[in-house]
Amino acid sequence: MTRTDLLEKTSAARGRTVLISGAGIAGSALAYWLHRYGFVVTVVEKAGAVRDGGYPIDVRGTALDVVRRMGLLPRLRDAHIDLRRLTFLDEDGAEVASVDPYAVTGGVAGRDLEVRRGTLAGALHEVVRDDVEFLFGDSIDTLDQHRHGVDVTLRVGGRRTFDLVLGADGLHSHTRELLFGPEERFHRYLGYCFAGFTVRNTFGLVREAAMWNAPGRAAVLYAVGAGGDAHGILNFARPQPPYEAYRDPQAQLDLVTAVFADAGWAVPGMLASLCDADDLFFDVVSQIRMPRWSRGRVALVGDAAYAPSFLTGQGSSLALVGAYMLAGSLAADKDHAAGLAAYERDTRAFVTLNQDGVGKGEAALFPTTARALEQRNTMLRSLDSAPPEEGRPAHAALVLPEFRRAAAAAASPPPPVAPATPISTTAHEPGPDTLN
Ligand SMILES: Cc1cc2nc3c(=O)[nH]c(=O)nc-3n(C[C@H](O)[C@H](O)[C@H](O)COP(=O)(O)OP(=O)(O)OC[C@H]3O[C@@H](n4cnc5c(N)ncnc54)[C@H](O)[C@@H]3O)c2cc1C
Repeated sequence: MTRTDLLEKTSAARGRTVLISGAGIAGSALAYWLHRYGFVVTVVEKAGAVRDGGYPIDVRGTALDVVRRMGLLPRLRDAHIDLRRLTFLDEDGAEVASVDPYAVTGGVAGRDLEVRRGTLAGALHEVVRDDVEFLFGDSIDTLDQHRHGVDVTLRVGGRRTFDLVLGADGLHSHTRELLFGPEERFHRYLGYCFAGFTVRNTFGLVREAAMWNAPGRAAVLYAVGAGGDAHGILNFARPQPPYEAYRDPQAQLDLVTAVFADAGWAVPGMLASLCDADDLFFDVVSQIRMPRWSRGRVALVGDAAYAPSFLTGQGSSLALVGAYMLAGSLAADKDHAAGLAAYERDTRAFVTLNQDGVGKGEAALFPTTARALEQRNTMLRSLDSAPPEEGRPAHAALVLPEFRRAAAAAASPPPPVAPATPISTTAHEPGPDTLN
């Protein structure tokens, strides 16, 4: 054990037990940080293994600092997709504009990362899988909080008691429902649905994406490499969320097929692939906005608490930063209520700033009327071809605190002579490591 490890394990966290629901991006990152601070961690994941959805996600701004502190940056740099070109097509498949992808996503070439979601989820799981208990194929049935802990009934694993329960179970979080009630209370539907799935790359696309648009409909082909498979995305406007299709894969297929039935370009081939796909991911484009993220000994992180929607491209980055902030805040204070309050106080402004990014950039890529589509096309044709040198300020609006010292301070016995260094100051001072 290194000196750093020793320091970390002497934190206020030592021996406190935590159950995390969900082994996605937020769940595994949270497990890693909590374990490093000395918590005893169990993760329960509904799926039989880490879910390996393949579509590309962004890691940008402050979140890059999280993966760097986890030692994952070199590995993720190797997996970086480095998309070269994004070409927009009209309803007939004719080119409207071909731009540098960063010009529309607000990312920074050479610094921000774009990796397959499965690559990130796998890497996060790998760095923690030997240190914490993972229960795959199981989920929380009931939660019962009391003064000394939370009694949990697992569907398969029976009854257990933990000091804390943390919900990292995504947009449709069951933990959130158990704690705060139905999703509709917090769900902010943004008017679109999408289906993501694998297609054969028979289109000659090499590290590039092509997007076909008609008012209210978009079809995207996204080729990570040359040949092989590409990611297909069908995105469409719909005034009300299709609640009936939420848990019914056949209803999802029927809906998407009906919406795109008369579409041209490569869409008929995409629909054929959609019907054969074994990795269909269908969801609504929505945000979760909650007045608070915890109650008692249970708290939420990532999409479960503050999904920003893929229109912001910030879902995974918020999940990574939220996990770091939640773990550190809990470790820095023996009192879980104070730790959870600090997590929310220090993370909420960053989250809100990024959620408010909806409507800028990517959101404008899916116009719903012919007029808005023409305006968007005019904007695309006039885009500067040079990629931006600076990312959006919101992406890096939080400087990660250095929690290690605060955690150690919280664990130390009180000094014989007051005053001691106030923990809150140490807890929230910026870390010595910054990017670049
Ligand atoms: C396979 C997959 C494909 C995705 N594809 C897209 C996409 O194309 N576009 C997009 O915008 N976003 C997509 N997302 C969501 C995106 O990954 C998240 O927005 C982002 O990474 C934030 O991560 P998160 O950890 O908060 O949530 P997620 O990455 O969604 O992880 C949540 C985890 O919790 C698990 N889980 C859910 N319910 C329970 C339960 N009751 N008990 C235990 N475990 C549970 C899930 O299986 C999952 O592993 C996808 C998520 C997954 C799991």
